[in-house]
Amino acid sequence: MIDQSTGPAAEQWDAAVAAVRALGGDAEIQLVCHVSPDGDALGSMLGFALGLRRLGFTRVRATFPGEFRVPTPYAQLPGVAMLVPEQAAYRAPALVLVFDVAGESRLGGLAAQVAAAPVSVVLDHHASNTGFGTIQLVDPHAAATSVLAEELVTRLGVRLDAEIAECFYVALATDTGSFKFDLTTVAVHELAARLIATGLRPGDISRRIFDSRPFGAMKLTGEVLGRAVLDPAAAGGRGLVWTYATLADLARHEQPPYVLDTLIDPVRSVAEADVSVLVKQVAEGEWAVSLRSKGAVDVSRLAISQGGGGHRLAAGFTGHGEPGDLVDRVRRLLDDYLI
Ligand code: AMP
Ligand code: MN
Ligand code: MN
Repeated sequence: MIDQSTGPAAEQWDAAVAAVRALGGDAEIQLVCHVSPDGDALGSMLGFALGLRRLGFTRVRATFPGEFRVPTPYAQLPGVAMLVPEQAAYRAPALVLVFDVAGESRLGGLAAQVAAAPVSVVLDHHASNTGFGTIQLVDPHAAATSVLAEELVTRLGVRLDAEIAECFYVALATDTGSFKFDLTTVAVHELAARLIATGLRPGDISRRIFDSRPFGAMKLTGEVLGRAVLDPAAAGGRGLVWTYATLADLARHEQPPYVLDTLIDPVRSVAEADVSVLVKQVAEGEWAVSLRSKGAVDVSRLAISQGGGGHRLAAGFTGHGEPGDLVDRVRRLLDDYLI
């Protein structure tokens, strides 16, 4: 696992800059982010892709593994035209850049292509990052991968413009929970200020990203929250609250899976529980388990023990069986990972 308490070393930055500068303008550059991409994955990747275009690179493609579905809130991000399905990714790019990916398991069918690339630069901020890739720009203290992406484009000599800035701003705003989480430092607000100074309208962006969803998604949220269970004795008395959502729930309300991505937020707001769990069905018998803590439990280490990963207070893993059994397992593990 990466141990980077002070962020990437100068040599890593220099190596990443040199890897880009070594390329001719017509070199094929492939950008990749994690499966089921969120605002940081897409925003950091597309912002960087636009930066490469500004530097004169003409062959830049961005992709992510799995079904080629861009969540509606991100479907109009600048640079989205460079997004292609994984099947259309460059077969033998001169350079691969990887965004917001903690480990190769989050790269699905693209893991082999990344491993085969002559040079792969990994930009990430997960505590659970496995250290894959040839050049690592990994900082677990960064609030979003876009913090690292912005630093790299700047070091490459790109001047931020409104399109690049919108991508990085969306990434920063989503991963900080609208500048609410612990990693929202002075530097984060200074970066946000630099991005907004290009002419962004934060109100418009927030409405589009956070405050706009289909009626069906709202009804679905109501049902899923309505079946939440509170267990005040769990986590040494710090409390656990959990609920689940099935593919049938999505189908009944005619909603795509991404509408479940932010459903953990109302669950984790429950005052009586430190730990919150949302179990989301991804296939028959297969579930994505989202974990959040307010400080009592290192859910990243818990998730790693189950084959997943994430950040200290926000993590996840893929589990099999029934939601109740998965939560029972999490409940038993909580005591092992108390902070
Ligand atoms: P989520 O609960 O899906 O919002 O994810 C919370 C955090 O945990 C994110 O930073 C994810 O990258 C990470 N994460 C979630 N699921 C997994 C997984 N199966 N493997 C590795 N990391 C994960
Ligand atoms: Mn992400
Ligand atoms: Mn992120």
